[in-house]
Amino acid sequence: KMAEAKSLKEELKAKGVKYCVGAYVDIHGVPKGKFVPIDHFEHFAAGSELYTGYALDGLGQRPNDDEIASVPDLDGLIILPWNKEVAWFPADNTFHGEPYEINTRVALKKQLAKAREMGFGMNLGIECELFILKHNEDGTLEIPNEDDNQKKSCYDVKRFLDRYKWIDKVSTTINDLGWDLYSLDHEDANSQFEFDFNYSDALTMCDRYIFFRLMAKQYAAEEGLLATFMPKPFADKTGSGAHFNMSLFDKDTGENLFKCPVEDDPRDLGMTELGYQFIAGILKHGPALCATFAPTVNSYKRLVRKGLMSYYSWAPVFNSFGKNNRTNSVRVPMGGGRFESRNADAACNPYLAATLALAAGLEGIRENLDPGPAIEANLYEFTPEQLAEKGISELPRTLDEAVTAFAADPFVTEVLGQELRDEFIKYKSEEWRQYHQSVSQWEIDTYAKMY
Ligand code: GLU
Ligand code: MG
Ligand code: MG
Repeated sequence: KMAEAKSLKEELKAKGVKYCVGAYVDIHGVPKGKFVPIDHFEHFAAGSELYTGYALDGLGQRPNDDEIASVPDLDGLIILPWNKEVAWFPADNTFHGEPYEINTRVALKKQLAKAREMGFGMNLGIECELFILKHNEDGTLEIPNEDDNQKKSCYDVKRFLDRYKWIDKVSTTINDLGWDLYSLDHEDANSQFEFDFNYSDALTMCDRYIFFRLMAKQYAAEEGLLATFMPKPFADKTGSGAHFNMSLFDKDTGENLFKCPVEDDPRDLGMTELGYQFIAGILKHGPALCATFAPTVNSYKRLVRKGLMSYYSWAPVFNSFGKNNRTNSVRVPMGGGRFESRNADAACNPYLAATLALAAGLEGIRENLDPGPAIEANLYEFTPEQLAEKGISELPRTLDEAVTAFAADPFVTEVLGQELRDEFIKYKSEEWRQYHQSVSQWEIDTYAKMY
């Protein structure tokens, strides 16, 4: 171990690296870590860096507790492309040398080990949607090229080219890192973009998504703009999802265990029984999962049929599953072999969401659950009567409802442990309380003169 660290240190020094950082995330999925001069690399690699957990959101601890450490995952090395003097590593926390349970990356690793015991690995692909905007001094967000008078610019070529410099930096970095970008486009809302790179094992994908957010923000700042992953920056435009595309593979052969020929699947989607059981587990715990897929007050402004727009939001409102039908929260894209959870948004902590999603899916497999028939109708147009007739339930409509569902589901405590569960509830309830006790411009516009 020590020898390995020493040779990596020499390699990094030869490349001009001066500092290294082991970045773990707080409960929000925001990376945190101390910077260590490269000469101290061996100590850094062994977990020398200590932190006061109480100073971090959702990492537990009281002010008088011993410190937690960070241990970098050396396989996750990225030399920052925009500052080659810094080496970045994803990291876990430990406490007195043991994995620290109140850390979401640790929770995911634990759940992945459970999957392995059942013979499975998990693949994950996260679709990266985000806005790139002007952030004005008065705090408002502005679309940089709104002057060309386009109300809606899904797939628009001119608007894509307007942001070419930023897009090219992001894309080049994705490919330089070997993540294999396969598609990018101008999304539905003005100044909203999507980058899609190849799926990988769940832990690697979560590490990449954390780095992606940092990188996209960095390159936007270089253009004097703000890259934002807030789920719904504008009430009259679509929001930013982070669709979780999931499948299980055989831990020994790597074979996709959800994929089968369409003609062998009675539902005609190209999914195995195992895949449907997994989906059924996701639906069973749908409301609780929603709190981690869509973890902010703002997330629930995205999970609407139309919002203030005249057209659809493409975000789900129901805890339901179907085939290539974007009105369900769980969608099996054409060809099958995987499914996506569409309520996941760009503000999620991917480790936390993937942990619960995997655990729910494994429960579906263990309990042999059935998700029922795939829904093919346009659910956005369903009346309450039609929904009731088909037994389709709504996703939580606010962060408050989601956190209540999260707190009420005993499965969450089993999976995350009491402490991590409680931390999430503590931070999210407080977020809701502050929002609920604020007075918005909408209320002033609506009521100030009326009453
Ligand atoms: N932006 C949409 C959302 O909020 C998703 C659009 C799509 O299907 O790619 O989830
Ligand atoms: Mg999209
Ligand atoms: Mg998708």
